[in-house]
Amino acid sequence: MADRIVVVTGGARGIGRAIVDRFAADGATVVIGDLTDPGEVGAGLDVAGHREWVPLDVTDETSVLEFAQSVEAGHGGVDVLVNNAGIMAERSITEESLAEWDLTMAVNLRGPFLMAKHLVPLMEGREGASIINMGSIEGLAANRHHAAYCASKGGVHALTRALAVDLGPIGIRCNAIAPGWIDTDLNRSYIERHPDREQVVADLARLHPVARIGDPADIAATACWLASADAGFVTGQVIQVEGGRTVRLSLPTALEP
Ligand code: NDP
Repeated sequence: MADRIVVVTGGARGIGRAIVDRFAADGATVVIGDLTDPGEVGAGLDVAGHREWVPLDVTDETSVLEFAQSVEAGHGGVDVLVNNAGIMAERSITEESLAEWDLTMAVNLRGPFLMAKHLVPLMEGREGASIINMGSIEGLAANRHHAAYCASKGGVHALTRALAVDLGPIGIRCNAIAPGWIDTDLNRSYIERHPDREQVVADLARLHPVARIGDPADIAATACWLASADAGFVTGQVIQVEGGRTVRLSLPTALEP
């Protein structure tokens, strides 16, 4: 990834931060677009590349435009755009407010649209350019009370295919990663609110053929592969990185072997 300019939205923490660190370790210059300053972006890892933060609210077109101008002024272009920023709320459909529905759509789906709209001009003509959108296995199936999140991630998967078709002729690939259960703040609250945390972690692991939940580094490794020349013939795909969770059929506990 040496000499490559990589933009990661929501790169201050969680999966985004692991992607930032992985690309930087592989030698890229990484621009973190996030609401808040992650602070020690230069510290913590012995990386070959460079990391910096530029303020960004992916829901706001003015913010996205200013971000694009800043990246263009600082680096002249972009090779890889990772649309990772995302939010989730747990509500039944009757409890879901219009404001919360709209915010989920704005961050998870409008964000990748605005970022593609304003960063594609910086990616045109750069060999091996690609966009990676963060989808979810909840764009393919649903947990209860996740209607807005599931709808937004289904939209991300469809946007990915549409961008692959539109941008392929100008040399930009577009793929999505659909993570399963990854250990980040986004879903840690589910585990923390249960009195027997260890039991929940053990039960979660049992849902996965690989017998564990995911680590942000699992997603970062896939993002790096999708951005590499090794994935040069891969576009329009939704790559599930979920430890086999969606291929394991569930049984009542009493019937589990
Ligand atoms: P986290 O909540 O840990 O991190 C999300 C990051 O996005 C934060 O740094 C947050 O900033 C930033 N962000 C939120 N809103 C905006 C915005 N409007 N503009 C710019 N940045 C913003 O999430 P995860 O790392 O767990 O998730 C990352 C992505 O992966 C999301 O798209 C999520 O839907 C997806 N995903 C996650 C799964 C999981 O199990 N964790 C499973 C499947 C998909 P701040 O801290 O300032 O709020």
